[in-house]
Amino acid sequence: MGQKRDNISNCESELPLPRNAPSLAVIVPCYNEEEAFSACLEELNSVLAGLLETGKITDESYILFVDDGSRDKTWSLIKQAAVANKFVRGLKLSRNRGHQIALIAGLSAVGADACISIDADLQDDTDCISQMIDKYREGNDIVYGVRNDRSSDSFFKRFTAESFYKFMAFMGISQIPNHADYRLLSRRALDALLQFRESNIYLRGMIPLLGFSAAKVYYSRRERVAGESKYPLRKMLALAIEGITSLTIMPLRLISALGFFTCFIALVVALYAIIEKIRGEALTGWTSMMIAVLFIGGVQLLSLGVVGEYIGKIYMETKARPKYFIEDIAGREELP
Ligand code: UDP
Ligand code: MG
Repeated sequence: MGQKRDNISNCESELPLPRNAPSLAVIVPCYNEEEAFSACLEELNSVLAGLLETGKITDESYILFVDDGSRDKTWSLIKQAAVANKFVRGLKLSRNRGHQIALIAGLSAVGADACISIDADLQDDTDCISQMIDKYREGNDIVYGVRNDRSSDSFFKRFTAESFYKFMAFMGISQIPNHADYRLLSRRALDALLQFRESNIYLRGMIPLLGFSAAKVYYSRRERVAGESKYPLRKMLALAIEGITSLTIMPLRLISALGFFTCFIALVVALYAIIEKIRGEALTGWTSMMIAVLFIGGVQLLSLGVVGEYIGKIYMETKARPKYFIEDIAGREELP
């Protein structure tokens, strides 16, 4: 690559890019996506064929579908596709482990020069893939797909997502707003990511920790092509908690601050109570006592809950259980 860079200064009219056309792996996590699968396959297949034709990627490129323990026909569709289409490979996890772990499973299996992760529902614009590769070839190791339009999301989803990003920023977690898990990673960024050994995974927050040069491509998010969202509120909340607790201990600090504050208030109230007692006017108010007891009780329980959340994470991390098991693979060539 150093030699390539030297060439740049000699050739002003047509600058060679710092990187050659990569072999590309497109990682697609799928959970009960039988309805969206064929549209997804067709679109990604034509995108890859186009890129191959224009010489933007090499012919070792492929699409890797990761079946995250689906209970519908998704895996048999992936297997069929892998037989019929040389671009297609598949990986089946032994059970549903969630989007983030399905992505890690896919990423761990990649041997290509670059990989792009994308959802199976085609909400993310596949036209960006070509731009992502351009940015990669210009020398970027990470290319974020960023939505510039959330109009296809419901008001509720938009509101909760925006509040979540603001809250995360308040907690000091840097992440790219309106970027989900549609991104390109170069080989070295991917190798760096795979060195993170933790089992609490929130990729969006981990990728900026890698460093390396990054770029963004913008697109407007479409409607789901078929099927329903596989992210009900429960999973969204779990992801949010995972995101916070895996990246920052700010909530623990906030509890300490709250503790100090309550102690200070308690001191003031205690002084007041003693003065009243000395003045002989101590008519102990039931209401104020109830409020104080309930408030402090509530704060304590909440704080204990937050502390417990972290202890739970430590517990899971120390067990260091395997994150997933591969039950089956499909497609040509070597997959681990
Ligand atoms: N997904 C997964 N495991 C899960 C939930 C979702 O692999 O437990 C996949 C799903 O098949 C899709 C992607 O993650 O490819 C994003 O899910 P979805 O589109 O339902 O989320 P939304 O766009 O509604 O946030
Ligand atoms: Mg979606």
